[in-house]
Amino acid sequence: MLETLKTDVLVVGSGPAGSTAARYAARKGAQVTFIERRAQVGVPVRCGEMIPSTEEIGGMFVNAENIEELFDIPHNLRLREIQGIRLVNPKGKMVNLPFTGYTLDRDNLDQHLASEAEKEGASLIRNCQFKSIRNGIAVTSKGDIEYKVIIGADGPGSRVSKALHLPKVEHPYPAVTAQAKGDFEPYVVMYFGGIAPGAYSWIIPKQGQANVGVGFSPKFASGTLSEYFASFVKKHDFEIMNKLEGKFVPSEGPISNTVNGNGMVVGDAAGHVISVNGGGVPLALIAGRICGTIAGDNIINGRSLEDYQTEWRRIMLKPLKTAAFNKKLADVFAFGSDWRTGVCMGILGQRRMGNLIRCKRLFP
Ligand SMILES: Cc1cc2nc3c(=O)[nH]c(=O)nc-3n(C[C@H](O)[C@H](O)[C@H](O)COP(=O)(O)OP(=O)(O)OC[C@H]3O[C@@H](n4cnc5c(N)ncnc54)[C@H](O)[C@@H]3O)c2cc1C
Repeated sequence: MLETLKTDVLVVGSGPAGSTAARYAARKGAQVTFIERRAQVGVPVRCGEMIPSTEEIGGMFVNAENIEELFDIPHNLRLREIQGIRLVNPKGKMVNLPFTGYTLDRDNLDQHLASEAEKEGASLIRNCQFKSIRNGIAVTSKGDIEYKVIIGADGPGSRVSKALHLPKVEHPYPAVTAQAKGDFEPYVVMYFGGIAPGAYSWIIPKQGQANVGVGFSPKFASGTLSEYFASFVKKHDFEIMNKLEGKFVPSEGPISNTVNGNGMVVGDAAGHVISVNGGGVPLALIAGRICGTIAGDNIINGRSLEDYQTEWRRIMLKPLKTAAFNKKLADVFAFGSDWRTGVCMGILGQRRMGNLIRCKRLFP
């Protein structure tokens, strides 16, 4: 147990959002502690492990400045360059989209980001679970922590968000992932409908293996996620190498308020995820930097935490709202039957499916 620990900024969670927030708050000169309930940062992996290229991210979030610094991921962490995305309808018809990105081992990425925060002076405490806030003090499994600013980067079921009386991430989708052995082409393959009702199943190539997984919308599903995953494995005859891991993915865009008093939420805890494809790592980094920088400024020169909300909205709100709107359109018109999914994908065609993936309007 800790004696009551005192820190300027307490960050809960050492995923991409938490480590990035910790890194930038510490860079500003604040004393930063970030806590992680798991024993090992990033383990187990619950992610498709695909990151779009800086060019793709910059094209989606045109107001984001200096993203090169954020996505300066060491080359030895990058496993495979992606040359495109194949979107497959329930009948097997394929649309090829030019798209650049790369895959990595997500545990290595998370550990790299946590070590970047530590290099700036932030202190990481593992095996430390945030429980609640009592009289302005964080109660954790390792004792109480006194803070001036608290940042919830603890995922879609955020306890910090609840303790701060911020809105919940509503209707997150369950998704599962595992590694399949073999040589796969350098394309991300997304299979819509079929065994992933209301969402998609995927193959994301790595080195000598691929990350394979399934997500679904509970409102369209009649089986369990492990049943759908088993069908996916059977259909493609995958040789699965590890235990199936799952998590929830925010599906409705950002929550309406991310700041209350001396607390903020960021990343999945704030719904910072692209609704149409479930991608959240780039947003966790972009919003994490804003959140950490403003927390640090708050400590050093009293800057208002409300600036965090203004700033992430300036950069991310429009594309995220467009993606959430497109997802709603898909729920109404495309999902519900494989036939409708196939027809809608045919009507949209390659150009508009590209807009869908890139958070752009379908019908400008
Ligand atoms: C199956 C699946 C596949 C995905 N594929 C991709 C993909 O290919 N590309 C992409 O960009 N995005 C993908 N995503 C989304 C992406 O993983 C998330 O958006 C991203 O991890 C969000 O980062 P975060 O830091 O906000 O949250 P997380 O990565 O979830 O980190 C939260 C951290 O907080 C810790 N924590 C939680 N509660 C507490 C507590 N009470 N006390 C202390 N610590 C706590 C957790 O252990 C965790 O380490 C996928 C998601 C899933 C589920």
